[in-house]
Amino acid sequence: LEEIRALPKVELHAHLSGSITQEKLIELLARRGNGDTFTPFDCRLDLSNALEKCFDYFAKVATVVTDLQALRESTLHVLEFFAADRCIYLELRTSPKQFKLNAVESDGVEVLTTKLQYLQAVSDSIQEFQSQAQARFGFVMEVKVLLSVDRGRVTSKESALQQIDDIVAMHVQYPNLVVGIDVCGNPSKPTVLPYLIPALLERKDAFLKLPITFHTAETQDDEESRLVLSSMRELNIRRLGHVCFFPDECREEVLKGGIHADGGCVGIEICPTSNLVTRGLKNGLADHHFLDWWKKSDHVLLSINTDDTGLFSCDLSSEIHDLARAFRLSREDLIEIQRQALRSSFHPEKQRLLETFDAMLSSSK
Ligand code: IMP
Ligand code: ZN
Repeated sequence: LEEIRALPKVELHAHLSGSITQEKLIELLARRGNGDTFTPFDCRLDLSNALEKCFDYFAKVATVVTDLQALRESTLHVLEFFAADRCIYLELRTSPKQFKLNAVESDGVEVLTTKLQYLQAVSDSIQEFQSQAQARFGFVMEVKVLLSVDRGRVTSKESALQQIDDIVAMHVQYPNLVVGIDVCGNPSKPTVLPYLIPALLERKDAFLKLPITFHTAETQDDEESRLVLSSMRELNIRRLGHVCFFPDECREEVLKGGIHADGGCVGIEICPTSNLVTRGLKNGLADHHFLDWWKKSDHVLLSINTDDTGLFSCDLSSEIHDLARAFRLSREDLIEIQRQALRSSFHPEKQRLLETFDAMLSSSK
């Protein structure tokens, strides 16, 4: 594990709220002083009702991140957490929210902060972090943001369009920070893709420059998987998250290549503990679907990610370590996966990042 900790690493699939550690959540709850508490837990110890517990965690985080200041503090906390683990590039995803201003600030009238202010707060925290990163960590972790479409808040095509339009507007204001779109949300709820896919298609010209990564097949829904696969080219879906229950014929099509007109690869985001928990793998990671993808095709780029470090009590090194142990991966394999992750990232300067990675790698030997 220490050897993996020393390696430069890349994180492409981390949700801001879920990456707030359980200790930090307890600290934030205690500070509110309303008697509300949280009992730390380890998802791996009891795999029952997994998705319910996951979404309970996000709901709990939402009870403490209720204003821009708490958002800044928790963003900073998440950035420091990844940098301390020698993550050189973090692609952080979040679904911007609107907070209620309290009655004093708004003269008793209910006023909401805007989604743009949410993104501004995240951006400020990144800048604050980066201004001190060299001194504190010996390197400056690069950070970009993916804006999430939360399926849980899609109830109609109109509500899907609204989320997409908000994302497009935020990208216009933060063109260098926002590098892509994530589609996430509770997969155990009935599918909303019949609203969401047409809405995305309707707006595709507006977000042309933003590639999409799509949470796919977290639960078994073959029809949904086929719909995502058949929309990849048109919607510029460049990466798929989880693919736990991806039907064989869909996987074969991705492995075969030719999904994108420009010949680009498809990124597959593996999140070991998250996948173990949502798939209920009682025998551990040995049953993970990693080998279905690893070294199977030149058209696929793999990455190993955390998903939600707080919820899953993990960090990037522990995730890589656990997967490496389950599949006897060598140091060279792990380095190759970090390179694949960088190549499948949505960062506009991948070559520069690859050079940084190589430089940090040689200094870590
Ligand atoms: P936020 O967008 O920063 O608030 O991060 C929390 C959100 O991430 C949750 O409300 C979910 O919509 C999403 N999320 C986190 N983990 C998962 C997952 O494993 N599957 C689907 N959605 C997820
Ligand atoms: Zn996720």
